[in-house]
Amino acid sequence: MLVVMKAHATEEEIRKVCERIEALGYRAHPIPGTQRTAIGITGNAGEVDIGSLESMPGVAECIPVSKPYKLVSRDVKEEDTIIRIPVRQPDGTTAETTIGGASVALIAGPCAIESYEQAMAVADCLRKAGVRLFRGGAYKPRTSPYSFQGLGEAGLKILAEVRERFGLGIVTEAVDNESLELVEQYADVIQIGARNMQNFSLLKRAGRARKPVLLKRGMSATLDEFLMAAEYILAEGNYQVILCERGVRTFSDFTRNTLDLAVIPAVKRRSHLPILVDPSHGTGRRHKVLPLSRAAVAVGADGLLVEVHPDPDRALSDGMQSLIPEEFLQLQQEVRLIAAVLNRTVN
Ligand code: PEP
Ligand code: MN
Repeated sequence: MLVVMKAHATEEEIRKVCERIEALGYRAHPIPGTQRTAIGITGNAGEVDIGSLESMPGVAECIPVSKPYKLVSRDVKEEDTIIRIPVRQPDGTTAETTIGGASVALIAGPCAIESYEQAMAVADCLRKAGVRLFRGGAYKPRTSPYSFQGLGEAGLKILAEVRERFGLGIVTEAVDNESLELVEQYADVIQIGARNMQNFSLLKRAGRARKPVLLKRGMSATLDEFLMAAEYILAEGNYQVILCERGVRTFSDFTRNTLDLAVIPAVKRRSHLPILVDPSHGTGRRHKVLPLSRAAVAVGADGLLVEVHPDPDRALSDGMQSLIPEEFLQLQQEVRLIAAVLNRTVN
């Protein structure tokens, strides 16, 4: 159920409707838009009795939401959500970077933080290229228990130094509730990986975090399952969710995953949340990353998540799909050209 308030409804009227919803035993999610505020209702097993709500001052109408997801839906919020990420700069000021809206965000960095030197080398060249958000895993969900699992908190400390030295915002993955506690303290954006897309207790915990969440699509998740996973986070009160398509499993054998670019316009139609594309995990091969990045921006992705490593042949994870810094610079240039055609800038 969605309560749509009149364009000129007062704060007081909105508050009273929220209170009535909560008194009925549900949760109210006021979502301000440019034209009007809509209030999403969750926590209801069946239909909400709208009688008492519809007649309240300031209420325009009550709309039943038939889709399984509500808060992520465009029905609730017509305009695109823009995620604002404040990043502390080396000089002590704060620079805000955004994901969604008119700009295309480039998030780049190694698959995993392997050492101080490796992280600083990549960060230095990305910063010089004007990149604002740095990715790198300190906790790695690996297929084999014998593969490199990440440096853990030591990796988070290196990431914090990357921000301190270069003013880059940090995007890093939490693999369970325990690591999320730490990631929330160190990172600017909390990543939830494909393997955890349906880890509902982790999603709920992320929904209580006070940092934006980058949610990757599960490798066999349908679009509805993907949006429902995001709904878990919003339903807990965290509306700062960035979706990310990273490829799904198909019968194709020439890529690691099949990058589902058709999901971008499909998400745009259904949801107000921004969606990124990860061409690195989406292809698994370095030479495919650039062409798929161009395509992703052309179909309307709000940004790219790209793996970059100074020495991919010696990377402890995902070397085959990691770009060297020079290749990333080329990608940035080409993506700028495509974004310009669509009246978008790249940051
Ligand atoms: C990653 O971004 O390094 C990662 C592990 O991705 P995914 O969860 O999409 O496999
Ligand atoms: Mn990786």
